[in-house]
Amino acid sequence: MTDDIDIRVTGRAGRITFTRPQALNALSYDMCLAIEAVMRQWADDDEVALVVIDAMGDKAFCAGGDVAELYRTGITGDYSYARTFWRDEYRLNACIADYPKPVVSMMQGFTMGGGVGIGCHGSHRVVCETSQMAMPEAGIGLIPDVGGTYLLSRAPGRVGEYLGLTAARMGPGDAIFAGFADHYVPRDRWADLIELLEASGDTAPIAELAETAPDAALAAHLDEIDRLFAGDSLEAVRASLEAADGDFAATALNAVRRNSPLSMACTLEMLARLRSEQATIRQALELEYRFTWRSQPESDFLEGVRAQLIDKDRNPQWRNADGPLPDTAVRHMLAPLGEDTLTFEGEERLMKIGFIGLGNMGGPMAANLAKAGHEVTGFDMAPVEIAGVTMADSAAEAATGADVVITMLPNGQILRSVAAEIIPAMSKGATFVDCSTVDVDSARAVAEEAEAAGLLAVDAPVSGGTGGATAGTLTFMAGGSDQAFAVAKPLFDIMGQKAVHCGTAGAGQAAKICNNMILGVTMIATCEAFALADKLGLDRQKMFDVVSTSSGYSWTMNAYCPAPGVGPQSPADNDYKPGFASELMLKDLRLSQQAAESADADTPMGALAQQLYAQFVESEDGKGMDFSAMLPRFEKRHRG
Ligand code: NAD
Repeated sequence: MTDDIDIRVTGRAGRITFTRPQALNALSYDMCLAIEAVMRQWADDDEVALVVIDAMGDKAFCAGGDVAELYRTGITGDYSYARTFWRDEYRLNACIADYPKPVVSMMQGFTMGGGVGIGCHGSHRVVCETSQMAMPEAGIGLIPDVGGTYLLSRAPGRVGEYLGLTAARMGPGDAIFAGFADHYVPRDRWADLIELLEASGDTAPIAELAETAPDAALAAHLDEIDRLFAGDSLEAVRASLEAADGDFAATALNAVRRNSPLSMACTLEMLARLRSEQATIRQALELEYRFTWRSQPESDFLEGVRAQLIDKDRNPQWRNADGPLPDTAVRHMLAPLGEDTLTFEGEERLMKIGFIGLGNMGGPMAANLAKAGHEVTGFDMAPVEIAGVTMADSAAEAATGADVVITMLPNGQILRSVAAEIIPAMSKGATFVDCSTVDVDSARAVAEEAEAAGLLAVDAPVSGGTGGATAGTLTFMAGGSDQAFAVAKPLFDIMGQKAVHCGTAGAGQAAKICNNMILGVTMIATCEAFALADKLGLDRQKMFDVVSTSSGYSWTMNAYCPAPGVGPQSPADNDYKPGFASELMLKDLRLSQQAAESADADTPMGALAQQLYAQFVESEDGKGMDFSAMLPRFEKRHRG
């Protein structure tokens, strides 16, 4: 769970706001995941006409990636966190670049590194008088990544080489000149502009409010930049800077002397390749990933972060600082990665999923997730085998290291005890999705506990029965934050055909309880009507033909007919084996009455349905029978 970003829909705009101004809105892995998840969701959402990304505070839109965690894990020899972060961040950069709807970014103050990856690949990039952009990676031993090499390779003349090697800052005019921004709108007009974008869903107001940008200093120096940075090797560029007169060349030379030789040499090689190949952003990102994948063990990256950001001694001990780089160094850093190559196929992130409760519903749901390529680890109290699912020895083991943990358990009490076991085992930022049908209080309590532990939480009970679970056609009714829903939505899309975001924590269970109260009442009404029809001598098929096309029709009549041999196949045709067991219906009706009690709602039909199912399950022969077995029950009974 991250409080560092505010995601919402306002009017026609999908809105993403960085809310971490005290850290210059530095981009964390959680923020990347949240942005990617919601953008994929908005791509198919007709309500969202465009996306507007902005940031709180005056100092920065986003001053870069949050490299502290990359450093912390990297120095212990654990490179997997950084590689995963970069891989997913680059996929997000590509997603923004090729987004099917306009993406407007509003970039005040600093926009650097990771911030460029978010703000500078969209369709409408807005700057103002305070905007300062840079790709400063060479100063920490990295290369300009997040698609930075793509932008730099398309900048006029040798401006890309100049910016990539020196990490020089661009003002608003420079950013537009170099191809990092499109429009200059004075900051005091931004609130109006965003309001117009939200209200209209149209990008036309940007051009209407845009003004002429300040002159680009880069344009004034273009001839000099082209001359100084024309060399095809770092040595050649250095030599021409050393031989040149004037302040501009001297400042550039100082920067080049400060930065990592390996980073700068690789940057030059990458820009040469990308420019000559007229590459796409995906090719650029794939090339960047070759460097960053190797960067922790084999480049100046960890030393650069140490010197600039951790110890702050500003005295990095670069590799090859005293002599020319061996030819092989650049070739090695940019060599293809084989099976670790960055790919974009499908682009939906394959997740590590823990699945707890693999019964009639959970089993086929987990199997569908595994079939879609996700790595699913499951646990159930009973010994079960599910195709594609690796079984763990405990719920906590299944939850450890998972991106998402899904529970599908019998009731709220069991959910609470499983939650107490798995929440401490889950990684911070992971998402807890409970699909069981439980009481609203348990759903809210578990969500609260999860959020307090730094997790995202969604309650997402389902409708559609075991048939829907197997076919992947369930309906999910979800409660939780927009961010949590966005993470879970791609999984709902695999397991179901519809997912409705009903509101905050507990709203999914509230919707489920109301739906199932209707279902229980309707099933009883349908069954007693068939029993009455029998006694009136009406043929069951004729009864179905009339009611299923008249005002008495319902899901219980039309799709789940309780009379055997009539209507579509249903548990009635299988000796009333569940399907949906009567005791589960009784559980749901009790939940509805418990909720009605605490909300002071008058639900007489729901109360009567609960009473009838309780009698059926507890003192007749309903236990273990499908809930439509109410029909043979009514058949045997008489009035009074
Ligand atoms: P089920 O009894 O078949 O499955 C529940 C599973 O949870 C069982 O395999 C059980 O062994 C396991 N379990 C119990 N306690 C556990 C624990 N502490 N740790 C790990 N596993 C544990 O029930 P189901 O039909 O799959 O229903 C699951 C949930 O889905 C229920 O809340 C139900 O109300 C809801 N639901 C069911 C249907 C349906 O048609 N069956 C439809 C919609 C919703």
